[in-house]
Amino acid sequence: MDNVCAVVTGGAGFIGSHLVDALLLKGYKVFAIDNLITGNEDNLTEAKKNPKFAYIRHDVTQELPVVGPIHFLYHLASPASVPDYQKYPEETALVNSVGTRGMLKVAKAHGAKFLFTSTSEVYGDPKEHPQKETYWGNVNPNGVRSCYDESKRFGEMITMLYVKHHGVDGRIARIFNTYGSRMRPTDGRVVSNFINQALAGKPLTVYGDGKQTRSFCFVRDMVAGLIRLMETDNTTGEVVNIGNPEEYTMIDFAEKIKHMTGSSSEIVHVRLPVDDPTQRKPDITKAKKLLGWEPAVSVDDGLKQTIEYYKQVAGRE
Ligand code: UDP
Repeated sequence: MDNVCAVVTGGAGFIGSHLVDALLLKGYKVFAIDNLITGNEDNLTEAKKNPKFAYIRHDVTQELPVVGPIHFLYHLASPASVPDYQKYPEETALVNSVGTRGMLKVAKAHGAKFLFTSTSEVYGDPKEHPQKETYWGNVNPNGVRSCYDESKRFGEMITMLYVKHHGVDGRIARIFNTYGSRMRPTDGRVVSNFINQALAGKPLTVYGDGKQTRSFCFVRDMVAGLIRLMETDNTTGEVVNIGNPEEYTMIDFAEKIKHMTGSSSEIVHVRLPVDDPTQRKPDITKAKKLLGWEPAVSVDDGLKQTIEYYKQVAGRE
């Protein structure tokens, strides 16, 4: 383990920083790379206490500084919440296209195993439910979400191109909605919005009629799935959904958060964002078979921990 080195782009982000912690726990040397447009260096406070860790502030659309031998390269860097990628559409488009190509070149040069984090957004507003990896998706190519959806689709294509034509040992994770500590309270996602609204006694903002569905994965399970996908033999060129198939309508989810926080907040309906997918739930048969992975943390347990986290964050402010 002493000489194993992993690089995590987007390492100061929500999922990235948890991945950094998990890789350090395995005894690896870890470099986190982030330009902090949506990441937060505070997420690396624990990691920085470990002598095997280094943080590099860097934009991965530019050439990577030399960091020595690399065995695993996890490419997570990208704004990922709907408000974030709409605020940074060009950065989002470029980090997933130019940035992914750059990281693939680094993986090739080092003979490193490579993992690209794609997204359930490649399925767009899916006509197939639940979504299997074989589904091609239903994406608006020039809508408000396309800077993210289409650049992730490009990222998948260029990853497979480097697998087939450059011999890179690459794989693709399609990440479904994930939640847990270190997701910024103001991130704009439904879990952080509802919990923080409920804790502050403010109205819970359900977008549209709230009949749209999502399925939520606890961040610890997500990170375990990503590591499993990277390290399992015979995963070269594979595309695997990582997520929790427990599906909720947003109106039921708002009720659940209200109940779990003991909040007396009202639930209000506000305008539905453009191109908001009507349903989403991963089919994780492939992850179970190929990786022997499935979520271990129930939504109730994960939400309890997340609510406690946001209470602490609010206490610090
Ligand atoms: N949503 C909501 N209220 C909020 C934030 C989001 O009802 O305050 C809805 C949103 O319209 C979407 C779902 O919750 O249908 C998940 O939104 P999120 O931004 O968390 O993730 P997405 O799956 O859209 O990327």
